[in-house]
Amino acid sequence: MPEADDRRPLGVFGGTFDPVHFGHLRLAEEACDRLQLAAVRWIPAGQPALRGTPQVSAAQRLAMVRLATADNARFAVDPTETAVSQASYTVPTLERLRRPEICGAQRPLVLLLGADAFLRLPEWHRWQSLFALAHIAVAHRPGSQLAEHSLPAALGDACRGRFTMDVAQLSSTPAGRVIPFAMTPLAISATQIRALLAGGCSVRYLLPDTLIAYIRAHHLYTEH
Ligand code: ATP
Repeated sequence: MPEADDRRPLGVFGGTFDPVHFGHLRLAEEACDRLQLAAVRWIPAGQPALRGTPQVSAAQRLAMVRLATADNARFAVDPTETAVSQASYTVPTLERLRRPEICGAQRPLVLLLGADAFLRLPEWHRWQSLFALAHIAVAHRPGSQLAEHSLPAALGDACRGRFTMDVAQLSSTPAGRVIPFAMTPLAISATQIRALLAGGCSVRYLLPDTLIAYIRAHHLYTEH
């Protein structure tokens, strides 16, 4: 089916993925099942907006996302952001996906975020526009508490009336709901993996072996 004709909810998963790890992979996999998504579109950032320059190139982070997701028929990789040198912002990315030749205006889009990223939403460029472009699904993440009644004030105001636990609401409208979901808690972060690699320690069982082989072959993350 051409992408623009598919009306089933599509997950959109952006990140620095420096490097991609099992926390990301389980988030996307469990989101597919729990939220009844047709697929997840992975969108590695070129130059992330809210952090320093990643340690490895956008092309290498993209290559690692491709390697990690290649054998999963529900995952697709969108390389567009890695090809531009300016900062990556989520709202323009979603506006691009809304073009008629990509997803169009009607297909439900579900932006996948960990709780830490959701809580920082008010720092994002044009963040209030997100709700007209996509639903937001927030995965629980160890170390980040997500309680509807104790959100930062601006975020709480923007989300008022949007929270739902009803997955069916994601397919009945193209955008605008916020749905928390519990995933297998995995206290894995790219920061931890970079630190372990820089310290010469093992990262096995934190990310796929194919990625560890890629990292070793390209001598990545060897410095603090
Ligand atoms: P870093 O440690 O470099 O900040 P990270 O591990 O948080 O990186 P990102 O690429 O920044 O990875 O994250 C992309 C998205 O994945 C974010 O929405 C983030 O909240 C989410 N995420 C990353 N790791 C986990 C995890 N272990 N559990 C749940 N969500 C996660």
